[in-house]
Amino acid sequence: MTESRGLVLIVEDERHIADVQRLYLAREGFGVHVETDGIAGLAAARRMHPVAIVLDIGLPGLDGIAFCRALRDVGDWTPVLLVTARGEEADRILGLELGADDYLTKPFSPRELVARVKTVLRRAAGPPGQTESVGRLSVDPISRTVRCDGEPVELTATEFNLLAFLLQHVGQVFTREQLLARVWGYPGYRDTRMVDVFVSQLRAKLGEASPIRTVRGVGYSATASSR
Ligand code: CA
Repeated sequence: MTESRGLVLIVEDERHIADVQRLYLAREGFGVHVETDGIAGLAAARRMHPVAIVLDIGLPGLDGIAFCRALRDVGDWTPVLLVTARGEEADRILGLELGADDYLTKPFSPRELVARVKTVLRRAAGPPGQTESVGRLSVDPISRTVRCDGEPVELTATEFNLLAFLLQHVGQVFTREQLLARVWGYPGYRDTRMVDVFVSQLRAKLGEASPIRTVRGVGYSATASSR
């Protein structure tokens, strides 16, 4: 697991396309899970918390557009790479408006797919959102400011990204590798101690208001209540 770049969920009803996608992503060090219809795909997204989703638009059960909307409606900002067929331009634009991160038009080369997945992961650090209050903290993703008991806290960009990411996923546990992929955009970066360093910095700055908990043997998560 320490070698993995994280799990990519592929939702694609054309088996031969899914097989090629799986092969190339696995070769790059990603874990891969494939679903062939939209409903099972959405269930898998909610169950498995993939680092990215490669999402076909034309799917049985639930199409890629409805899938994307269902995901974003509940505040799930997992990066989505839409896979579209020729003639689906309108759907592609709607998908991007609904929060898909990028798109790929069939036919595409597997290498291009891999490059695009890496790119959406790099960009995944700062999803848009509203000010969130968790415990004693409030986080404003637009102005990129954090307040503790109403007082501003000085954070670096990366500290802010890490804290905001964890607070957007309260209760969800992330491995250091997942945090490197989703916050730093370094899916292949191996030095996971960097995560520990930044967590330490955040704890030092936030003191008892820090929502970050160490989950022994796994990684980190944020809790809704401060000590
Ligand atoms: Ca299809």
